[in-house]
Amino acid sequence: MKACEAPFLSRGRDWKLVVAGSFRKLGDLLEFCEIDPSRTAFEGKHEFALRVTRYFASLIEKGNPLDPLLLQVLPDGQEYRHIDGYHQDAVGDQLAMPVPGLIHKYHGRVLLTLTGACAIHCRYCFRRHFPYGEASLDFNMNGQVMNYLSANPEVSEVILSGGDPLMVSDQKLANLISALNRIPHIRVLRIHSRVLSVLPERVSETFIETLRRFEGQIVFVTHINHPNEISAPNQAAFQLLAQEGYRIFNQSVLLRRVNDSAQTLVELSNKLFANHIIPYYLHRLDKVQGAAHFDLPAREVCRIYRQLRSRLPGYLLPALVEEIAGRSSKTPVRCG
Ligand code: SF4
Repeated sequence: MKACEAPFLSRGRDWKLVVAGSFRKLGDLLEFCEIDPSRTAFEGKHEFALRVTRYFASLIEKGNPLDPLLLQVLPDGQEYRHIDGYHQDAVGDQLAMPVPGLIHKYHGRVLLTLTGACAIHCRYCFRRHFPYGEASLDFNMNGQVMNYLSANPEVSEVILSGGDPLMVSDQKLANLISALNRIPHIRVLRIHSRVLSVLPERVSETFIETLRRFEGQIVFVTHINHPNEISAPNQAAFQLLAQEGYRIFNQSVLLRRVNDSAQTLVELSNKLFANHIIPYYLHRLDKVQGAAHFDLPAREVCRIYRQLRSRLPGYLLPALVEEIAGRSSKTPVRCG
């Protein structure tokens, strides 16, 4: 079992150049990972384009078309099957957007969609149909978003999301942080990002210096689904964030053929914890059109979760949740 080597990783490289070198063509990715194209399920051209960082690709096992990391990013003909019960806006984001770029669903916190860009495209993404052109944040910091935050003193936490919020420049993050510092009731900045694990070059000294400007607390939420997604380069990035005193949590999505075994999830929790990250949520798949082939029946979800619960101490057990459009919080999945 040998993953592709990653001699190209080098700390200190401009992360935007690293992103520019990502895989955008299926043939190039499969060639890199020594996978015969005829052994994948891909058919035709996909509107949700392929995008994979070289680091993430380096963790895919050579020659294995069923590698759990590959399956997360591999376009599949099944994405075009219409399945009843799967929707374009699976979690009701667009019904909860009082101003473009700001989603306010839950008490005390709002989510900003800073950008539609991501470092990798995950085929199961619940925002794969999201109209980012209409809903990305206005970076004019005196604009509607800041007015909304100022006018809602019960909001104490701002969640940066996207796309991936760490695809915006440090300068833009710095401008945002300065604007948030001017609103005294915003005390927590939570950053949800897959970039932290798939593009470790992003966690640079400049980035850390930018974060230090925030006068409240910063919390990170990574998105890691499988233990193979953690290796030396992103371990170094997590270490750097932990040294700065930031708390890091992880959310995973339970995905058919990727991490649908208690053994894999136990390994994931242990590896996260060894790298300063607390397992936080295990999400049931959001029922988004194009991702039904990743879904698992409720009985299977509970079977896996009960095994997981019996094998992990409570502090390493992620909460099993689902997001139901219109609810005022995530919904715990009851497995008995
Ligand atoms: S928003 Fe997150 S889950 Fe969706 S494609 Fe981007 S990185 Fe993947």
